[in-house]
Order: sequence, then structure tokens, then C-alpha cells
Amino acid sequence: MNQLRTTRPYRALSLAATAAVVLVTGAVTVPASASAGVSPSSAAAGPAAECRLPAAVDGLGSGFPVDEQALPATGTLKAALLYVDFEDHPAPAGSLDEAGANLASGVEYLERVSGGRLDVETTSSDGWVRMPEPSTSYPFDRGLSYEDHVRYIGDAIAAADATFDFSDVDVVWVTATKEAPDITYSPTTNFLDVTADGNHLTHAVTFGFDQWRWGGLVLAHESGHTLGLPDLYLFEAPPDDPGNWHAAVGGWDLMGLISGAGPEYLAWHRWQLGWLEDAQVVCAEPRRATSALLRPVAGSGTAAPWQDAMVVYRLSETRAVVVENRQPVGYDAGIGTSGALVYTVDTSVPSGEGPVRVVDSTPGSADGLDDAPFAPGSSWTEPTSGAVLTFRPGPANTLGVTMTP
Ligand SMILES: [Zn+2]
Repeated sequence: MNQLRTTRPYRALSLAATAAVVLVTGAVTVPASASAGVSPSSAAAGPAAECRLPAAVDGLGSGFPVDEQALPATGTLKAALLYVDFEDHPAPAGSLDEAGANLASGVEYLERVSGGRLDVETTSSDGWVRMPEPSTSYPFDRGLSYEDHVRYIGDAIAAADATFDFSDVDVVWVTATKEAPDITYSPTTNFLDVTADGNHLTHAVTFGFDQWRWGGLVLAHESGHTLGLPDLYLFEAPPDDPGNWHAAVGGWDLMGLISGAGPEYLAWHRWQLGWLEDAQVVCAEPRRATSALLRPVAGSGTAAPWQDAMVVYRLSETRAVVVENRQPVGYDAGIGTSGALVYTVDTSVPSGEGPVRVVDSTPGSADGLDDAPFAPGSSWTEPTSGAVLTFRPGPANTLGVTMTP
């Protein structure tokens, strides 16, 4: 996979190993001149405010607020879905429905996981739109640059413009016919800079051939970037664990591994996006024990504000330990190990470098991070602070957590 190398607003990189193509997806293309600054943290008050770690990197990251270039994650997101084909790879008659159906589950994911806070309104092109250039003129497999990506998106918009109204569009989705293998993968840009029907379009995702491997959740992953979330897989595998691009979070979040067993967004990300209420966040006190009863993350979007979704223990200005309850419900239905998922968040670490790292309750086990959650009845000591987290079974599928500093 060839990805654009840039330094701002965050770094993407070239993955030399072709094996990575089947392990990770997407990339975010940005202009070299982009330099989104870090906004001051929001001035929210209340018990959770102390745990709202301020963003400490430019661009996509895990801090508050999300990148200023992100689209709002609540309210209505108006998407233009353009189906494109090419003179060298025309779309077969009758293939439009299949292409639409493949992405539909991604829209459903966003609406469900947000608990209805995000409403996606999709308007599709009237059939396949013929691109002006053959598919091979867009170098997806030869190091797609930001400029190449914008040219591709701009061509799609221009080709559709005669019959499509872009005047009220927030994000452009371009999906290529399955017949075009040269449109290999599915990058995102938050810096489009194309005007159509008087509307300055800034956000786009283009879906390539890899969507047929990932399914519609690729749309939800890429939309995560549109909304400001970072990649949680590692752009470079650890030197002592070569080839393991998933050493940070395994399959415990859609921004880490689309095909993972537990692709529910982490509670921390939901909080970043405004999909959790502050009242659902238990910010542990630094000098006395804190207890919480956590509902499964999968249902947190529609839970009552008094139903706890996570415990956060702040370690520094940019680091915190988070505990959430993962159970085999919702998009987590396929997880093999349930219980307390513990991870650290570091808002000074950029996208793709491990801003979130899951703590493995069974280090060295053959299952990697798949069996990372701590079982009720166990405990864990945070190594830098000495704080002890203990986990106990709660009623139904809830999880009791006590943090003792
Ligand atoms: Zn990504």
C-alpha cells in the first residue's frame, strides 16, 4: 500500500510491506501546506472535565477537542454518494444496487453507535457517472498524492455536477465500480477544496476495491477520520514485533481493525465525538477510591446519562487510563473474551503511532490482544502511578470497577 507521506497536520506513511494491504486500510490525504492548529480545550465544567485531556497534536488525535478540520459528529451529516465508472472499466448493468448495499452497513453503524446523535442523509448520483479519464490514470497503486486524490474527487464531482446538486453537501463519497481494480483502496481527505454549486466542499472519502474485502464498515472507519478520529493501527509495526500493525489495540475498535471481532468504537472515542454524555464518564479522583458500575460499551449510545460507560484515571496532562466494559452484544457480538478492557490514551501521540494502547491481561498469550480484557474478580496495578484497578461482576452484564490510588 502506498500512502501519502506528509508531516502536517499529521503524518501518514508509506507501508513498504504489501502484506499491509490486507491488514489495514485507508489513508488520509492532506496538502503539504496544511497546518491545522490545536484549538484550546473546551471549557466544559463538571466532574468529567478534569479527565477531558486536551489535544496535544496537530490533526487527528485522541484529545479534546477533535481536530478543528473535522466535521461535526452530531446532528445531520449530508453525504453525496457518487457512483463512478470508467471507459476502461464500465460498470455492468444492474451493479448499482450491489455497490450501494455494500456501503449501507457503514451508515447504519454510524447512526447506531452514535445512539442516533448522528443522522446521515445520503443522496446518491442518478446511476453510474462516467469519469473523464481511464481508471489507470489515477495512481492509487503508485503512491497517490493529495493532488492526485483531489483530481480524482474533482473529476467525479465535475462529471456528476450537471445532474447533482452539491449546494447542501457536507461530505462527498465516491465509490468506484467493482470492475476497476486499479482504484485499490479507500482514502479520506478533510482538505478537498473544490467548489460546486456554490458550496466549498472540504471532506471526501473515495471507496476502492478494498471495500469488497472490508464491507461497509470501511465507510464507518473512514467517516471516523472525517469526524476527527485517528487511526489506531500502527503505521509502523514495533521493531520487536515485526508485521504486527495491530499491536496497539488489536481488534477492539473500528479505527484499529475493521475486520476485528470487537469493532465498537472505544468509549473514549465516543466521548470525543459527543456520543457519550459527561455524566456517563466517571473521572477517578486522584486521592480517594472511585467506584463505578459500567454498562457494556455497545449500548452506551442509548443508555441513560446515569449509566456509567467508562472510568478514566488521569495520569498527566496528556495521559489517562481508561476502563470500559466489553460484552458480546451489538457490533461486539463476535468477541471471544469479555470483561474490563483497559487502555491508555495519550493525546500527544499522533494518528497511527498508538494514541491508544490496550493493556493485555494475558501478555504473551497466543491470542494476542483478543483475550486482553480483565475478568471480573481480577485486578491490575497501573505501573507508573501504583493505582490499583479491581474488577467485579455486576448484575446482568454490568461490570463493577474500583480504582484505588
Ligand atoms: Zn484510517
